[in-house]
Amino acid sequence: MAYTVKEIFYTLQGEGAQSGRAAVFCRFSGCNLWNGREEDRARAVCKFCDTDFVGIGPDGGRFADADALADVVDACWKGRSEDAAQKYVVCTGGEPLLQLDEAAITALHRRGFEVAVETNGTQEAPSSLDWVCVSPKAGAPLVQRSGNELKLVFPQEDAPPRAFESLKFDHFFLQPMDGPNLETNVNEATRYCMTHPRWRLSLQTHKLLGIR
Ligand code: SF4
Repeated sequence: MAYTVKEIFYTLQGEGAQSGRAAVFCRFSGCNLWNGREEDRARAVCKFCDTDFVGIGPDGGRFADADALADVVDACWKGRSEDAAQKYVVCTGGEPLLQLDEAAITALHRRGFEVAVETNGTQEAPSSLDWVCVSPKAGAPLVQRSGNELKLVFPQEDAPPRAFESLKFDHFFLQPMDGPNLETNVNEATRYCMTHPRWRLSLQTHKLLGIR
């Protein structure tokens, strides 16, 4: 299968339980909850997206098969550390599970990567993934109901934290919604985590640091 990727780059994971960890980010193009066009945002299921996942950027590409994709991810890591225990790729989007399949995961594993996904949860995640982060979106069906971390952008009308607490995740994070109400959202999320200790606060530290 061919893969369409917006961008592949090396950075630190900024969010959630793996925050601060060096990683190659592989951002797949396309999402099933918004087409990425501003003029269609108001009609989208997911209205608060802060990511450009449309088309192919300068660091992206169209890859004919899983090995071609994994080679570019591997090249992005090269020169950092050859310690296989540290090699980490975060497959994100858009919605990565529209494309990320067993063949791609296997090709990345063969190159020594621990493979993580950040998904909106509307697709089932392959069991061979090493780290599954689900970020549910109000109004979208939640198919993937287990994983390593659930990261809820907060607040979302019709997606209160308590609706997810019975699901099988190791970590529960609230992440303040970015945008014009960020300060209010940070304060509300902070208050919620302090009164509901099951939830931890996730800040978008890459934005605070000014890195990609
Ligand atoms: S599901 Fe994720 S990638 Fe898709 S529109 Fe929403 S925030 Fe953006």
